[in-house]
Amino acid sequence: MSDDILHPETLAIRSGIHRTPYNEHGDAMYLTSSFVFDSAAQAAARFSGAEPGMIYARFTNPSVSVFEERLAALEGAERCVAFASGMAAILATVMGLMRAGEHIVASRSIFGSTVQLFNNIIGKFGVETTFVSPTDPEEWRAAVRPNTRLFFIESPSNPLTEVSDIAALAAIAKDAGAWLAVDNCFCTPILQKPLALGADIIIHSATKYLDGQGRVLGGAVLGNKDLMEGVYTFLRTAGPTLSAFNAWVLFKGMETLDLRMRQHSENALELARWLESQPQVARVFYPGLPSHPQHALAMRQQVTGGGIVAFELKGGKDAAWRLIDATRIMSITANLGDVKTTITHPASTTHSRMTPEQRATAGIGDGLIRIAVGLEHVDDLKSDLLRGM
Ligand SMILES: *Cc1c(COP(=O)(O)O)cnc(C)c1O
Repeated sequence: MSDDILHPETLAIRSGIHRTPYNEHGDAMYLTSSFVFDSAAQAAARFSGAEPGMIYARFTNPSVSVFEERLAALEGAERCVAFASGMAAILATVMGLMRAGEHIVASRSIFGSTVQLFNNIIGKFGVETTFVSPTDPEEWRAAVRPNTRLFFIESPSNPLTEVSDIAALAAIAKDAGAWLAVDNCFCTPILQKPLALGADIIIHSATKYLDGQGRVLGGAVLGNKDLMEGVYTFLRTAGPTLSAFNAWVLFKGMETLDLRMRQHSENALELARWLESQPQVARVFYPGLPSHPQHALAMRQQVTGGGIVAFELKGGKDAAWRLIDATRIMSITANLGDVKTTITHPASTTHSRMTPEQRATAGIGDGLIRIAVGLEHVDDLKSDLLRGM
């Protein structure tokens, strides 16, 4: 039976497992920093790469391999390289694949720390980034320079759930001789397969839905073997390594990924529909709603709308803070991808480093609330919101 005929539910539970001689049914966790060789000759063969196998946990660990193989199977990627966090994965992508003098074109609507990383850290080493609209492929074509090597998007975006046309951007990147990298954190491979749509690189913050219960940090980069060799070389040399413990928590969490993503999406769609009918709500942002500007594209490119819903209250910041403070079930935190529903006010938290003008241009209003819909009963979530509406 080959992996590519198995369904995602099965891959998420069965792929990547290598039992020890004890034949444990639960999965072993390998808390070891190094590995012993049978002989000097074997040590030499491992170090030279002539013999595959474990060497040292900065760059080889069986628990980390299970996580990597499982995620690669789900994304349909030749290779996955795991990292200590999502940000480490993004850093490794640039450091492993690019050099000074090259250029990135990135969506304007990406994770705040990714913007800081591109502008303030990577920029110092001579790689410049141009930010363009996530929803207008022509802006990407116009931003291409002879030295452009990387396109970078998140779809749907945070918090307004803008949807980028992955196939269209992949075609423009190909013409430009650049790679398209997709941060697939919001959808996970259960809801969206960027490589099948033409992307070259997938990035994950495993901290979010892959874990699913808000326990550990982790990250990953996926793509073909050639590209991942550069990313792996950075990992091996620089050491932003996923720990064996975190890898174990993550691949156990992934056993329920399919179930969770479907239920997150079902709850989110119902909550989004209900919010649209509330008189205090000016606008709801959710790709699964027909009122979403890229609804048709989202439904082509994704299985469902996902678990993130944003909405704008008519009463501005006062109304938003009142609603947030009145909740008793939802957690007031900026994290997402948890079975526990989280609620946040982007203008004063995740997007507070932007100027008011930048926020206005980006469409982040003072009355905007983002909910990462969890797995509680959706009626209880509605009642929780009604307390402050
Ligand atoms: C959280 C997040 C990241 C960063 O991941 P960490 O694991 O926190 O380093 C990157 N991209 C997106 C879309 C995220 O939500």
